[in-house]
Amino acid sequence: MQNSLVAERVRLPCAGNTNGYPWSFSKCDFDDFSGWADAADAVLQQRGVDLNKYKYTVYLIPPSTCGWVGLGYVGCDGSFACRSWINGDFWGAPQAIAHELGHNLFLGHASAYLPDGQLDEYGDDSSSMGHCCDPRCFSTPQMWQMGWISAQQLDATTFKPGVSKQVWLGSHSAAANAGVRILTPWANGSDPIFLGFRTADGGDKALPATAVKRVHIYQSPVSGTYDAVNSIWRGSLATAGAAWAHSATGLVVRFVSVSNGGANVAVCRKAAPAKETLASCKAGLDNDCNGKTGWADPVCKTLLTAAGLAPPPPPRPPPLPAPEDADGLRLALNRAQRHNLKLSSKLSKARDEAAAKAAEARRWAAAVEQQEGQLAELRVQLEAERRQRFEAQQVLAAARGEGEAAKQDAAALLGQLRAAEAMASAVEGEAACVRGQLAVAEEALGRARGEVERLKEEAAATAARLSATDLVRREAERERDDLELSNQRLRAALAEAEVGGSAAEQQLAAALAKAQQELAVERQRGEMLQAQAALAEAQGRETERMLTEQLRAVQEERNACLAAATRADALLSKLGQHALITRGVD
Ligand SMILES: [Zn+2]
Repeated sequence: MQNSLVAERVRLPCAGNTNGYPWSFSKCDFDDFSGWADAADAVLQQRGVDLNKYKYTVYLIPPSTCGWVGLGYVGCDGSFACRSWINGDFWGAPQAIAHELGHNLFLGHASAYLPDGQLDEYGDDSSSMGHCCDPRCFSTPQMWQMGWISAQQLDATTFKPGVSKQVWLGSHSAAANAGVRILTPWANGSDPIFLGFRTADGGDKALPATAVKRVHIYQSPVSGTYDAVNSIWRGSLATAGAAWAHSATGLVVRFVSVSNGGANVAVCRKAAPAKETLASCKAGLDNDCNGKTGWADPVCKTLLTAAGLAPPPPPRPPPLPAPEDADGLRLALNRAQRHNLKLSSKLSKARDEAAAKAAEARRWAAAVEQQEGQLAELRVQLEAERRQRFEAQQVLAAARGEGEAAKQDAAALLGQLRAAEAMASAVEGEAACVRGQLAVAEEALGRARGEVERLKEEAAATAARLSATDLVRREAERERDDLELSNQRLRAALAEAEVGGSAAEQQLAAALAKAQQELAVERQRGEMLQAQAALAEAQGRETERMLTEQLRAVQEERNACLAAATRADALLSKLGQHALITRGVD
Protein backbone atom coordinates (compact mmCIF):
# COMPACT_ATOMS: atom_id res chain seq x y z
CA MET A 1 0.00 0.00 0.00
CA GLN A 2 1.19 3.50 -0.74
CA ASN A 3 1.52 6.14 1.95
CA SER A 4 1.52 3.53 4.64
CA LEU A 5 4.18 2.32 7.01
CA VAL A 6 4.50 -0.44 9.56
CA ALA A 7 6.90 1.07 12.08
CA GLU A 8 9.53 -0.86 13.99
CA ARG A 9 8.62 -1.79 17.52
CA VAL A 10 8.97 0.97 20.11
CA ARG A 11 9.91 0.18 23.70
CA LEU A 12 8.43 2.42 26.37
CA PRO A 13 8.95 2.55 30.16
CA CYS A 14 6.12 1.40 32.45
CA ALA A 15 5.19 5.01 33.17
CA GLY A 16 6.12 8.41 31.85
CA ASN A 17 5.08 11.95 31.18
CA THR A 18 4.66 13.26 27.66
CA ASN A 19 3.72 16.83 26.82
CA GLY A 20 2.89 17.37 30.49
CA TYR A 21 0.51 14.42 30.71
CA PRO A 22 1.58 11.66 33.09
CA TRP A 23 0.71 8.14 31.89
CA SER A 24 1.20 4.62 33.05
CA PHE A 25 0.72 1.08 31.79
CA SER A 26 -0.95 0.12 35.06
CA LYS A 27 -4.08 2.07 34.10
CA CYS A 28 -6.15 2.51 30.95
CA ASP A 29 -7.52 6.05 31.09
CA PHE A 30 -7.59 8.48 28.19
CA ASP A 31 -4.37 10.15 29.37
CA ASP A 32 -2.70 6.75 29.55
CA PHE A 33 -3.35 5.42 26.06
CA SER A 34 -2.97 8.92 24.59
CA GLY A 35 0.32 9.18 26.53
CA TRP A 36 1.54 5.84 25.10
CA ALA A 37 0.78 7.11 21.61
CA ASP A 38 2.50 10.46 22.24
CA ALA A 39 5.54 8.70 23.65
CA ALA A 40 5.68 6.22 20.74
CA ASP A 41 5.37 9.10 18.25
CA ALA A 42 8.26 10.89 19.97
CA VAL A 43 10.49 7.81 19.67
CA LEU A 44 9.61 7.34 16.00
CA GLN A 45 10.34 11.00 15.27
CA GLN A 46 13.73 10.61 16.94
CA ARG A 47 14.33 7.71 14.57
CA GLY A 48 13.62 10.03 11.68
CA VAL A 49 10.15 8.79 10.81
CA ASP A 50 8.09 11.61 9.33
CA LEU A 51 4.73 10.89 10.94
CA ASN A 52 3.12 13.83 9.15
CA LYS A 53 3.08 11.70 6.02
CA TYR A 54 0.50 9.39 7.60
CA LYS A 55 -2.99 10.52 8.42
CA TYR A 56 -4.14 7.50 10.40
CA THR A 57 -2.08 5.83 13.09
CA VAL A 58 -2.89 2.42 14.58
CA TYR A 59 -1.06 1.64 17.83
CA LEU A 60 -0.60 -2.06 18.63
CA ILE A 61 -0.27 -1.91 22.40
CA PRO A 62 1.11 -4.65 24.66
CA PRO A 63 -1.31 -6.79 26.66
CA SER A 64 -2.70 -4.18 29.04
CA THR A 65 -5.25 -3.38 31.69
CA CYS A 66 -7.51 -2.08 28.90
CA GLY A 67 -10.73 -4.05 28.74
CA TRP A 68 -11.37 -3.43 25.05
CA VAL A 69 -10.36 -5.13 21.82
CA GLY A 70 -9.70 -1.87 20.07
CA LEU A 71 -10.45 1.81 20.40
CA GLY A 72 -10.58 4.58 17.82
CA TYR A 73 -11.83 8.12 17.35
CA VAL A 74 -15.24 7.97 15.69
CA GLY A 75 -14.89 10.44 12.87
CA CYS A 76 -11.55 12.03 12.24
CA ASP A 77 -11.57 15.08 10.01
CA GLY A 78 -7.81 15.62 10.27
CA SER A 79 -8.09 18.49 12.77
CA PHE A 80 -6.46 16.18 15.33
CA ALA A 81 -4.34 13.07 15.21
CA CYS A 82 -6.42 10.20 13.75
CA ARG A 83 -5.55 7.47 16.21
CA SER A 84 -6.71 4.01 17.08
CA TRP A 85 -5.39 1.38 19.45
CA ILE A 86 -5.49 -2.43 19.24
CA ASN A 87 -5.15 -4.32 22.52
CA GLY A 88 -2.36 -6.90 22.98
CA ASP A 89 -4.38 -10.03 22.31
CA PHE A 90 -5.85 -8.78 19.04
CA TRP A 91 -2.87 -7.77 16.91
CA GLY A 92 -3.54 -10.87 14.83
CA ALA A 93 -7.11 -9.79 14.08
CA PRO A 94 -7.00 -7.54 10.98
CA GLN A 95 -10.75 -7.21 11.35
CA ALA A 96 -10.12 -5.29 14.60
CA ILE A 97 -7.83 -2.87 12.76
CA ALA A 98 -10.35 -2.49 9.94
CA HIS A 99 -13.05 -1.84 12.54
CA GLU A 100 -11.13 0.95 14.31
CA LEU A 101 -10.05 2.55 11.03
CA GLY A 102 -13.72 2.37 10.00
CA HIS A 103 -14.53 4.46 13.11
CA ASN A 104 -11.83 6.97 12.09
CA LEU A 105 -13.62 7.13 8.72
CA PHE A 106 -16.91 8.09 10.42
CA LEU A 107 -18.46 4.64 10.46
CA GLY A 108 -20.76 3.59 13.26
CA HIS A 109 -21.41 0.01 14.25
CA ALA A 110 -23.11 -2.70 12.20
CA SER A 111 -26.11 -3.92 14.17
CA ALA A 112 -28.69 -6.69 13.77
CA TYR A 113 -31.76 -7.92 15.60
CA LEU A 114 -31.39 -11.04 17.72
CA PRO A 115 -34.02 -13.80 17.44
CA ASP A 116 -35.68 -12.45 20.60
CA GLY A 117 -36.18 -9.05 18.95
CA GLN A 118 -33.40 -7.28 20.90
CA LEU A 119 -31.03 -5.13 18.88
CA ASP A 120 -27.41 -6.30 19.05
CA GLU A 121 -25.29 -3.22 18.27
CA TYR A 122 -22.48 -5.37 16.83
CA GLY A 123 -24.70 -8.20 15.56
CA ASP A 124 -24.22 -7.79 11.78
CA ASP A 125 -21.80 -10.53 10.67
CA SER A 126 -21.67 -9.11 7.16
CA SER A 127 -19.64 -6.04 8.23
CA SER A 128 -16.27 -5.43 9.87
CA MET A 129 -18.14 -2.89 11.99
CA GLY A 130 -19.84 -5.83 13.71
CA HIS A 131 -17.99 -8.02 16.20
CA CYS A 132 -17.54 -11.09 14.09
CA CYS A 133 -14.71 -12.84 12.66
CA ASP A 134 -12.34 -12.38 9.79
CA PRO A 135 -11.87 -9.20 7.79
CA ARG A 136 -14.63 -8.35 5.37
CA CYS A 137 -16.15 -5.28 3.78
CA PHE A 138 -18.59 -3.05 5.56
CA SER A 139 -22.36 -3.16 5.25
CA THR A 140 -23.92 -1.76 2.08
CA PRO A 141 -24.99 1.53 3.79
CA GLN A 142 -21.43 1.91 5.13
CA MET A 143 -19.88 1.17 1.70
CA TRP A 144 -22.16 3.83 0.23
CA GLN A 145 -21.35 6.27 3.07
CA MET A 146 -17.64 5.99 2.22
CA GLY A 147 -18.29 6.39 -1.50
CA TRP A 148 -16.90 2.95 -2.24
CA ILE A 149 -20.05 2.04 -4.15
CA SER A 150 -22.45 4.30 -6.06
CA ALA A 151 -25.75 2.87 -5.00
CA GLN A 152 -28.75 3.45 -7.24
CA GLN A 153 -31.24 5.77 -5.54
CA LEU A 154 -34.98 5.21 -5.48
CA ASP A 155 -37.50 7.54 -3.92
CA ALA A 156 -41.21 8.39 -3.98
CA THR A 157 -40.86 10.03 -7.40
CA THR A 158 -38.91 7.30 -9.14
CA PHE A 159 -40.62 4.48 -7.34
CA LYS A 160 -44.41 4.40 -7.64
CA PRO A 161 -46.70 2.00 -5.81
CA GLY A 162 -47.84 -1.04 -7.75
CA VAL A 163 -44.86 -0.84 -10.11
CA SER A 164 -42.27 -3.55 -9.78
CA LYS A 165 -38.76 -2.34 -10.64
CA GLN A 166 -36.03 -4.66 -11.76
CA VAL A 167 -32.53 -3.62 -10.67
CA TRP A 168 -29.14 -5.22 -11.15
CA LEU A 169 -26.90 -5.23 -8.07
CA GLY A 170 -23.18 -5.60 -8.70
CA SER A 171 -21.25 -7.47 -6.01
CA HIS A 172 -20.30 -4.72 -3.64
CA SER A 173 -16.78 -6.08 -3.16
CA ALA A 174 -16.19 -6.34 -6.91
CA ALA A 175 -18.12 -3.56 -8.66
CA ALA A 176 -18.53 0.15 -8.05
CA ASN A 177 -22.11 0.28 -9.31
CA ALA A 178 -23.40 -1.87 -6.55
CA GLY A 179 -26.24 -1.47 -4.15
CA VAL A 180 -29.57 0.29 -4.02
CA ARG A 181 -30.70 2.95 -1.57
CA ILE A 182 -34.45 3.36 -1.26
CA LEU A 183 -35.74 6.49 0.48
CA THR A 184 -39.18 5.80 1.92
CA PRO A 185 -40.76 9.18 2.84
CA TRP A 186 -44.22 7.60 2.50
CA ALA A 187 -43.45 5.39 5.51
CA ASN A 188 -43.20 8.04 8.19
CA GLY A 189 -40.11 7.62 10.38
CA SER A 190 -38.80 4.54 8.60
CA ASP A 191 -35.11 4.76 7.76
CA PRO A 192 -33.97 4.18 4.15
CA ILE A 193 -33.55 0.59 2.96
CA PHE A 194 -30.30 -0.54 1.32
CA LEU A 195 -29.87 -3.63 -0.88
CA GLY A 196 -26.47 -5.19 -1.52
CA PHE A 197 -25.23 -8.33 -3.21
CA ARG A 198 -22.24 -9.96 -1.52
CA THR A 199 -19.74 -12.33 -3.09
CA ALA A 200 -16.46 -13.68 -1.69
CA ASP A 201 -14.34 -11.25 -3.71
CA GLY A 202 -11.84 -8.57 -2.80
CA GLY A 203 -12.30 -7.42 0.75
CA ASP A 204 -15.07 -9.99 1.17
CA LYS A 205 -12.78 -12.99 0.53
CA ALA A 206 -13.29 -14.21 4.08
CA LEU A 207 -16.97 -13.37 4.19
CA PRO A 208 -18.85 -16.07 6.14
CA ALA A 209 -20.42 -18.69 3.83
CA THR A 210 -23.82 -17.82 5.28
CA ALA A 211 -23.51 -14.36 3.74
CA VAL A 212 -21.99 -15.21 0.35
CA LYS A 213 -24.06 -14.96 -2.87
CA ARG A 214 -26.93 -13.42 -1.06
CA VAL A 215 -28.89 -10.27 -1.47
CA HIS A 216 -28.63 -8.46 1.85
CA ILE A 217 -31.15 -5.97 3.10
CA TYR A 218 -30.02 -3.22 5.48
CA GLN A 219 -31.62 -0.19 7.04
CA SER A 220 -29.75 2.98 7.97
CA PRO A 221 -30.50 6.69 8.44
CA VAL A 222 -27.07 7.56 7.02
CA SER A 223 -27.24 10.51 4.65
CA GLY A 224 -23.60 11.36 3.94
CA THR A 225 -19.91 10.69 4.45
CA TYR A 226 -19.59 12.29 7.90
CA ASP A 227 -22.77 10.77 9.32
CA ALA A 228 -21.48 8.40 12.01
CA VAL A 229 -24.56 6.25 12.60
CA ASN A 230 -25.13 2.53 13.09
CA SER A 231 -26.56 0.41 10.26
CA ILE A 232 -28.95 -2.50 10.89
CA TRP A 233 -28.90 -5.77 8.96
CA ARG A 234 -32.53 -6.79 8.31
CA GLY A 235 -32.22 -10.04 6.38
CA SER A 236 -30.85 -11.74 3.28
CA LEU A 237 -32.17 -13.67 0.27
CA ALA A 238 -30.24 -16.78 -0.79
CA THR A 239 -32.21 -18.28 -3.68
CA ALA A 240 -33.99 -17.01 -6.75
CA GLY A 241 -37.67 -16.42 -6.00
CA ALA A 242 -37.08 -15.69 -2.31
CA ALA A 243 -38.68 -12.46 -1.16
CA TRP A 244 -38.43 -10.11 1.79
CA ALA A 245 -41.50 -8.07 2.67
CA HIS A 246 -41.38 -5.08 4.95
CA SER A 247 -44.69 -4.02 6.48
CA ALA A 248 -43.51 -0.57 7.65
CA THR A 249 -42.62 0.58 4.12
CA GLY A 250 -44.75 -1.82 2.05
CA LEU A 251 -41.60 -2.88 0.21
CA VAL A 252 -41.18 -6.33 -1.27
CA VAL A 253 -37.67 -7.34 -2.42
CA ARG A 254 -37.49 -10.39 -4.65
CA PHE A 255 -34.30 -12.22 -5.63
CA VAL A 256 -34.83 -12.91 -9.33
CA SER A 257 -31.55 -14.37 -10.63
CA VAL A 258 -27.76 -14.13 -10.72
CA SER A 259 -26.17 -12.59 -13.81
CA ASN A 260 -22.79 -11.05 -14.70
CA GLY A 261 -21.50 -11.61 -11.19
CA GLY A 262 -24.38 -9.62 -9.77
CA ALA A 263 -27.98 -10.16 -8.81
CA ASN A 264 -31.19 -9.22 -10.56
CA VAL A 265 -33.61 -8.06 -7.97
CA ALA A 266 -37.21 -6.92 -8.26
CA VAL A 267 -38.30 -4.25 -5.83
CA CYS A 268 -41.93 -3.42 -5.49
CA ARG A 269 -43.93 -1.00 -3.42
CA LYS A 270 -47.36 -2.21 -2.40
CA ALA A 271 -50.31 0.03 -3.31
CA ALA A 272 -52.97 0.88 -0.77
CA PRO A 273 -54.97 -1.27 -0.48
CA ALA A 274 -52.44 -3.89 -1.50
CA LYS A 275 -54.61 -5.93 -3.82
CA GLU A 276 -55.21 -6.26 -7.54
CA THR A 277 -58.21 -4.74 -9.32
CA LEU A 278 -59.39 -5.13 -12.90
CA ALA A 279 -57.88 -1.70 -13.58
CA SER A 280 -54.50 -2.59 -12.00
CA CYS A 281 -54.49 -5.88 -13.90
CA LYS A 282 -55.32 -4.13 -17.19
CA ALA A 283 -52.63 -1.48 -16.46
CA GLY A 284 -50.05 -4.18 -15.80
CA LEU A 285 -49.53 -3.04 -12.19
CA ASP A 286 -48.40 -5.27 -9.35
CA ASN A 287 -50.42 -3.74 -6.51
CA ASP A 288 -49.93 -6.75 -4.25
CA CYS A 289 -46.23 -6.99 -5.14
CA ASN A 290 -46.38 -10.73 -5.67
CA GLY A 291 -43.98 -10.23 -8.58
CA LYS A 292 -46.56 -11.01 -11.25
CA THR A 293 -48.72 -8.77 -13.46
CA GLY A 294 -51.54 -9.09 -16.00
CA TRP A 295 -52.35 -12.56 -17.32
CA ALA A 296 -49.21 -13.93 -15.55
CA ASP A 297 -50.71 -13.09 -12.15
CA PRO A 298 -53.29 -15.76 -11.18
CA VAL A 299 -55.36 -13.12 -9.32
CA CYS A 300 -55.40 -10.90 -12.44
CA LYS A 301 -56.07 -13.85 -14.74
CA THR A 302 -59.26 -14.59 -12.78
CA LEU A 303 -60.32 -10.93 -12.85
CA LEU A 304 -59.55 -10.49 -16.59
CA THR A 305 -61.29 -13.73 -17.59
CA ALA A 306 -64.36 -12.76 -15.54
CA ALA A 307 -64.43 -9.47 -17.45
CA GLY A 308 -64.68 -11.42 -20.72
CA LEU A 309 -61.21 -10.59 -21.91
CA ALA A 310 -58.98 -13.01 -23.77
CA PRO A 311 -55.25 -13.48 -23.18
CA PRO A 312 -53.02 -11.65 -25.71
CA PRO A 313 -51.64 -13.69 -28.61
CA PRO A 314 -48.04 -14.89 -28.22
CA PRO A 315 -45.48 -12.35 -29.65
CA ARG A 316 -44.53 -12.78 -33.36
CA PRO A 317 -40.94 -13.77 -34.12
CA PRO A 318 -38.85 -10.88 -35.66
CA PRO A 319 -38.65 -10.80 -39.47
CA LEU A 320 -35.55 -12.39 -41.03
CA PRO A 321 -32.98 -9.88 -42.50
CA ALA A 322 -33.09 -9.52 -46.30
CA PRO A 323 -30.16 -11.23 -48.04
CA GLU A 324 -27.59 -8.63 -49.18
CA ASP A 325 -25.83 -8.88 -52.51
CA ALA A 326 -22.06 -8.79 -53.05
CA ASP A 327 -22.06 -5.15 -54.30
CA GLY A 328 -24.00 -4.05 -51.33
CA LEU A 329 -21.51 -5.86 -49.11
CA ARG A 330 -18.53 -4.25 -50.90
CA LEU A 331 -20.12 -0.83 -50.57
CA ALA A 332 -20.66 -1.49 -46.90
CA LEU A 333 -17.03 -2.63 -46.59
CA ASN A 334 -15.77 0.59 -48.23
CA ARG A 335 -17.94 2.67 -45.98
CA ALA A 336 -16.62 0.76 -43.04
CA GLN A 337 -12.99 1.18 -44.10
CA ARG A 338 -13.44 4.94 -44.64
CA HIS A 339 -15.09 5.17 -41.30
CA ASN A 340 -12.23 3.16 -39.80
CA LEU A 341 -9.65 5.60 -41.23
CA LYS A 342 -11.58 8.55 -39.84
CA LEU A 343 -11.75 6.84 -36.50
CA SER A 344 -7.98 6.09 -36.57
CA SER A 345 -7.12 9.72 -37.18
CA LYS A 346 -9.53 10.73 -34.41
CA LEU A 347 -7.94 8.11 -32.22
CA SER A 348 -4.38 9.40 -32.75
CA LYS A 349 -5.59 12.97 -32.14
CA ALA A 350 -7.35 11.81 -29.01
CA ARG A 351 -4.18 10.00 -27.90
CA ASP A 352 -2.14 13.21 -28.32
CA GLU A 353 -4.71 15.12 -26.37
CA ALA A 354 -4.70 12.43 -23.73
CA ALA A 355 -0.88 12.58 -23.48
CA ALA A 356 -1.03 16.37 -23.13
CA LYS A 357 -3.73 16.01 -20.49
CA ALA A 358 -1.72 13.33 -18.69
CA ALA A 359 1.30 15.66 -18.58
CA GLU A 360 -0.93 18.41 -17.26
CA ALA A 361 -2.39 15.99 -14.76
CA ARG A 362 1.12 15.07 -13.58
CA ARG A 363 1.91 18.77 -13.13
CA TRP A 364 -1.29 19.16 -11.19
CA ALA A 365 -0.45 16.07 -9.14
CA ALA A 366 2.96 17.54 -8.28
CA ALA A 367 1.31 20.81 -7.27
CA VAL A 368 -1.27 18.91 -5.25
CA GLU A 369 1.48 16.92 -3.55
CA GLN A 370 3.25 20.14 -2.65
CA GLN A 371 0.05 21.58 -1.28
CA GLU A 372 -0.58 18.38 0.61
CA GLY A 373 2.84 18.80 2.22
CA GLN A 374 1.91 22.33 3.26
CA LEU A 375 -1.44 21.09 4.42
CA ALA A 376 0.25 18.42 6.54
CA GLU A 377 2.41 21.10 8.15
CA LEU A 378 -0.68 23.17 8.85
CA ARG A 379 -2.32 20.09 10.34
CA VAL A 380 0.64 19.62 12.67
CA GLN A 381 0.43 23.26 13.73
CA LEU A 382 -3.29 22.88 14.19
CA GLU A 383 -2.79 19.75 16.27
CA ALA A 384 -0.22 21.55 18.42
CA GLU A 385 -2.60 24.46 18.84
CA ARG A 386 -5.41 22.09 19.67
CA ARG A 387 -3.20 20.44 22.24
CA GLN A 388 -2.29 23.80 23.75
CA ARG A 389 -5.90 24.85 23.80
CA PHE A 390 -6.87 21.55 25.40
CA GLU A 391 -4.11 21.95 28.00
CA ALA A 392 -5.11 25.55 28.66
CA GLN A 393 -8.71 24.42 29.05
CA GLN A 394 -7.57 21.73 31.48
CA VAL A 395 -5.53 24.28 33.47
CA LEU A 396 -8.45 26.70 33.41
CA ALA A 397 -10.87 24.00 34.53
CA ALA A 398 -8.47 22.96 37.31
CA ALA A 399 -7.98 26.60 38.35
CA ARG A 400 -11.73 27.11 38.28
CA GLY A 401 -12.18 24.00 40.39
CA GLU A 402 -9.55 25.21 42.86
CA GLY A 403 -11.06 28.69 42.92
CA GLU A 404 -14.46 27.22 43.55
CA ALA A 405 -13.08 24.99 46.32
CA ALA A 406 -11.21 27.96 47.87
CA LYS A 407 -14.38 30.04 47.66
CA GLN A 408 -16.29 27.31 49.41
CA ASP A 409 -13.55 26.98 52.07
CA ALA A 410 -13.57 30.77 52.60
CA ALA A 411 -17.36 30.75 52.88
CA ALA A 412 -17.14 27.89 55.39
CA LEU A 413 -14.42 29.73 57.38
CA LEU A 414 -16.46 32.96 57.31
CA GLY A 415 -19.44 31.00 58.62
CA GLN A 416 -17.26 29.54 61.39
CA LEU A 417 -15.86 33.01 62.15
CA ARG A 418 -19.34 34.48 62.39
CA ALA A 419 -20.47 31.62 64.61
CA ALA A 420 -17.36 32.15 66.79
CA GLU A 421 -18.05 35.91 66.94
CA ALA A 422 -21.66 35.25 67.92
CA MET A 423 -20.47 32.77 70.54
CA ALA A 424 -17.86 35.27 71.85
CA SER A 425 -20.46 38.02 72.12
CA ALA A 426 -22.82 35.60 73.92
CA VAL A 427 -19.98 34.63 76.28
CA GLU A 428 -19.17 38.32 76.84
CA GLY A 429 -22.83 38.97 77.67
CA GLU A 430 -22.78 36.06 80.07
CA ALA A 431 -19.51 37.29 81.57
CA ALA A 432 -20.98 40.79 82.10
CA CYS A 433 -24.02 39.21 83.68
CA VAL A 434 -21.81 37.03 85.89
CA ARG A 435 -19.65 40.07 86.78
CA GLY A 436 -22.85 41.95 87.78
CA GLN A 437 -23.98 38.97 89.81
CA LEU A 438 -20.49 38.80 91.35
CA ALA A 439 -20.62 42.48 92.31
CA VAL A 440 -24.06 41.98 93.81
CA ALA A 441 -22.80 38.85 95.59
CA GLU A 442 -19.69 40.73 96.83
CA GLU A 443 -21.88 43.54 98.04
CA ALA A 444 -24.15 41.02 99.76
CA LEU A 445 -21.06 39.31 101.20
CA GLY A 446 -19.80 42.67 102.50
CA ARG A 447 -23.18 43.29 103.99
CA ALA A 448 -23.23 39.79 105.47
CA ARG A 449 -19.73 40.32 106.89
CA GLY A 450 -20.85 43.63 108.41
CA GLU A 451 -23.91 41.91 109.73
CA VAL A 452 -21.75 39.13 111.21
CA GLU A 453 -19.43 41.73 112.77
CA ARG A 454 -22.41 43.60 114.09
CA LEU A 455 -23.96 40.39 115.42
CA LYS A 456 -20.64 39.48 117.02
CA GLU A 457 -20.51 42.89 118.68
CA GLU A 458 -24.14 42.54 119.63
CA ALA A 459 -23.45 39.10 121.07
CA ALA A 460 -20.46 40.46 123.02
CA ALA A 461 -22.55 43.38 124.30
CA THR A 462 -25.39 41.05 125.14
CA ALA A 463 -22.95 38.74 126.96
CA ALA A 464 -21.62 41.74 128.87
CA ARG A 465 -25.16 42.86 129.62
CA LEU A 466 -26.03 39.38 130.69
CA SER A 467 -23.18 39.25 133.15
CA ALA A 468 -24.20 42.70 134.42
CA THR A 469 -27.77 41.53 134.79
CA ASP A 470 -26.53 38.51 136.70
CA LEU A 471 -24.71 40.82 139.11
CA VAL A 472 -27.88 42.90 139.50
CA ARG A 473 -29.87 39.76 140.22
CA ARG A 474 -27.41 38.62 142.85
CA GLU A 475 -27.45 42.12 144.37
CA ALA A 476 -31.27 41.99 144.48
CA GLU A 477 -31.14 38.54 146.10
CA ARG A 478 -28.70 39.83 148.63
CA GLU A 479 -31.02 42.81 149.28
CA ARG A 480 -33.93 40.42 149.65
CA ASP A 481 -31.93 38.37 152.14
CA ASP A 482 -31.08 41.60 153.95
CA LEU A 483 -34.77 42.54 153.97
CA GLU A 484 -35.60 39.11 155.33
CA LEU A 485 -33.06 39.62 158.06
CA SER A 486 -34.50 43.07 158.76
CA ASN A 487 -37.94 41.53 158.95
CA GLN A 488 -36.81 38.94 161.41
CA ARG A 489 -35.22 41.69 163.46
CA LEU A 490 -38.45 43.71 163.22
CA ARG A 491 -40.43 40.68 164.39
CA ALA A 492 -38.04 40.25 167.26
CA ALA A 493 -38.35 43.94 167.98
CA LEU A 494 -42.15 43.56 167.74
CA ALA A 495 -42.16 40.67 170.11
CA GLU A 496 -40.21 42.82 172.50
CA ALA A 497 -42.50 45.69 171.90
CA GLU A 498 -45.59 43.46 172.54
CA VAL A 499 -44.25 43.15 175.98
CA GLY A 500 -44.52 46.96 176.12
CA GLY A 501 -47.80 48.94 176.38
CA SER A 502 -50.85 48.36 174.20
CA ALA A 503 -50.59 51.80 172.69
CA ALA A 504 -47.09 51.19 171.76
CA GLU A 505 -48.29 47.75 170.72
CA GLN A 506 -50.87 49.27 168.52
CA GLN A 507 -48.29 51.66 167.08
CA LEU A 508 -45.96 48.83 166.65
CA ALA A 509 -48.63 46.67 165.09
CA ALA A 510 -49.46 49.47 162.74
CA ALA A 511 -45.81 50.03 161.97
CA LEU A 512 -45.36 46.29 161.54
CA ALA A 513 -48.31 46.01 159.27
CA LYS A 514 -46.93 48.83 157.24
CA ALA A 515 -43.49 47.31 157.24
CA GLN A 516 -44.99 43.93 156.30
CA GLN A 517 -46.95 45.56 153.53
CA GLU A 518 -43.81 47.25 152.24
CA LEU A 519 -41.91 44.01 152.57
CA ALA A 520 -44.54 42.21 150.51
CA VAL A 521 -44.26 44.91 147.91
CA GLU A 522 -40.51 44.55 148.01
CA ARG A 523 -40.79 40.79 147.78
CA GLN A 524 -43.10 41.14 144.87
CA ARG A 525 -40.71 43.54 143.23
CA GLY A 526 -37.81 41.20 143.88
CA GLU A 527 -39.70 38.35 142.26
CA MET A 528 -40.51 40.60 139.33
CA LEU A 529 -36.86 41.47 139.00
CA GLN A 530 -36.02 37.80 139.11
CA ALA A 531 -38.53 37.14 136.35
CA GLN A 532 -37.20 40.06 134.36
CA ALA A 533 -33.63 38.80 134.82
CA ALA A 534 -34.68 35.36 133.66
CA LEU A 535 -36.43 36.88 130.67
CA ALA A 536 -33.41 39.02 129.93
CA GLU A 537 -31.26 35.91 130.14
CA ALA A 538 -33.49 34.19 127.61
CA GLN A 539 -33.78 37.16 125.25
CA GLY A 540 -30.25 38.49 125.95
CA ARG A 541 -28.75 38.11 122.43
CA GLU A 542 -31.61 39.64 120.50
CA THR A 543 -32.95 42.56 122.56
CA GLU A 544 -30.28 44.88 123.72
CA ARG A 545 -32.54 47.81 124.18
CA MET A 546 -35.02 45.84 126.18
CA LEU A 547 -32.26 44.56 128.37
CA THR A 548 -30.96 48.09 128.78
CA GLU A 549 -34.41 49.26 129.78
CA GLN A 550 -34.82 46.32 132.06
CA LEU A 551 -31.43 47.05 133.49
CA ARG A 552 -32.46 50.64 133.97
CA ALA A 553 -35.73 49.50 135.53
CA VAL A 554 -33.87 47.11 137.73
CA GLN A 555 -31.49 49.91 138.75
CA GLU A 556 -34.43 52.18 139.43
CA GLU A 557 -36.08 49.46 141.42
CA ARG A 558 -32.82 48.90 143.19
CA ASN A 559 -32.63 52.60 144.00
CA ALA A 560 -36.23 52.44 145.20
CA CYS A 561 -35.36 49.35 147.20
CA LEU A 562 -32.35 51.09 148.62
CA ALA A 563 -34.50 54.06 149.49
CA ALA A 564 -37.08 51.73 151.02
CA ALA A 565 -34.36 49.90 152.85
CA THR A 566 -33.03 53.24 154.12
CA ARG A 567 -36.51 54.19 155.16
CA ALA A 568 -36.98 50.79 156.76
CA ASP A 569 -33.67 51.19 158.52
CA ALA A 570 -34.75 54.61 159.70
CA LEU A 571 -38.03 53.21 160.84
CA LEU A 572 -36.31 50.34 162.57
CA SER A 573 -33.98 52.74 164.22
CA LYS A 574 -36.97 54.78 165.37
CA LEU A 575 -38.68 51.62 166.54
CA GLY A 576 -35.53 50.61 168.44
CA GLN A 577 -35.33 53.97 170.14
CA HIS A 578 -38.99 53.73 170.94
CA ALA A 579 -38.50 50.23 172.44
CA LEU A 580 -35.64 51.52 174.54
CA ILE A 581 -37.79 54.33 175.71
CA THR A 582 -40.65 51.93 176.46
CA ARG A 583 -38.28 49.60 178.32
CA GLY A 584 -36.89 52.50 180.13
CA VAL A 585 -40.47 53.34 181.19
CA ASP A 586 -40.89 49.78 182.61
ZN1 LIG B 1 -16.41 -0.13 17.43
